Amino acid sequence: MDHFLYKNGTLHAEGVPIPEIAAQVGTPFYVYSTATLTRHYTLFTEALSPLPHLVCFAIKSLSNVAVLKTLGNLGAGMDVVSGGEYLRAKAAGVPGERIVFSGVGKTREEMRLALTGGIRQFNVESEPEMRALSEVATSLGVTAPITIRVNPDVDARTHEKIATGKKENKFGIPIARASEVYAEAARLPGLQVVGIDVHIGSQLTELEPFEQAYLKVADLTRRLRSEGHAITRLDLGGGLGIPYTRSNEAPPLPTDYGALIKRTVGDLGCEVEIEPGRLISGNAGLLVASVIYIKNGEGRDFLILDAAMNDLVRPSMYGAHHDIVPVAEPPIAAPTQEFDVVGPVCETGDTFAKGRDLPLLAEGDLVAFRSAGAYGAVMASEYNTRPLVPEVLVNGDHFAVIRGRPSFDEILNRDTIPAWL
Ligand SMILES: *Cc1c(COP(=O)(O)O)cnc(C)c1O
Repeated sequence: MDHFLYKNGTLHAEGVPIPEIAAQVGTPFYVYSTATLTRHYTLFTEALSPLPHLVCFAIKSLSNVAVLKTLGNLGAGMDVVSGGEYLRAKAAGVPGERIVFSGVGKTREEMRLALTGGIRQFNVESEPEMRALSEVATSLGVTAPITIRVNPDVDARTHEKIATGKKENKFGIPIARASEVYAEAARLPGLQVVGIDVHIGSQLTELEPFEQAYLKVADLTRRLRSEGHAITRLDLGGGLGIPYTRSNEAPPLPTDYGALIKRTVGDLGCEVEIEPGRLISGNAGLLVASVIYIKNGEGRDFLILDAAMNDLVRPSMYGAHHDIVPVAEPPIAAPTQEFDVVGPVCETGDTFAKGRDLPLLAEGDLVAFRSAGAYGAVMASEYNTRPLVPEVLVNGDHFAVIRGRPSFDEILNRDTIPAWL
């Protein structure tokens, strides 16, 4: 469910008409709904109650500090995968004890940053990383709380680029080697083992893979405890999928996911952490664009937008589907036309949709990509020297620009000419 609905024939973000934002900000832009972010975060906390838990928003899905502050103010924790994301969480006012640090390639510099600024735990992904963290913590005279990410070797049945829980993926340590690795962790100075971490992939549309993974984690908890480790926290990762089309897909609901967690690991007396990104941010955002031209080709018509693959890369990178809707509500049973929806970037990969049925549109009309909140703005680039797409946050009947569009001066001034030129 989201808060982008037609009212009086115009698409709104909560109480704000989209054309009003477009008139002030220009297109393309991302717009996020506070009510949707809040609702999705709350669904998770309710689904996990009364288990002791922390919902850590995966910053990598949508990292604007204003969005993080919106969630942080509700009590959310944050899952960060880089020093930069750690600094974003801190800039949003989230205390270190609510920040978990994930990722396969944490550098010593990033470890120092988090150990100095405060951290709930590092989710360690390999033995070399564990040894490096031990050295860094010892040199700072502190203790680093850790979980170790185990790879449960389950098939998440999602897009191959975002599956992470099979043994051939780069993530975590093989679950079969956990005893050995936890034993080394217990011996190393500067580390304190607090739990187990698992994350099997993104955009999962079934609960079954989670169930398989969490049952393995429950077994592992009992085994590691019998080997003398104090396992008090289970980080169960993120990955719950969202519907990208209005029609057929119906991914599991957070309530069912919460019930599954209680059923599989609820009796272990652990504090449960989850790291949802997409389910909180995905349907909380639209990408709004204008039609530049309608080009009638041979056998196909192109809808050329002012948004491109550099603004929203998911269609060209993952073959992802986004519903595209006109901002002016079409009359019921209005005629439609089949379009290839494309951007201005100079490569064929810059295609958002092929043969998409859309209402009749004209130059200057506004369209919106639905479900663009997650892995949208965060993956944007300035390819073709197209300014980084701005972001807007709506709250009820007001809105604010939370990242402005850079000017061409700002963009060009980032390049510097060496003295020999
Ligand atoms: C990407 C990622 C997440 C978030 O995944 P979603 O599918 O957006 O919920 C959570 N944890 C880790 C470690 C990740 O890499």
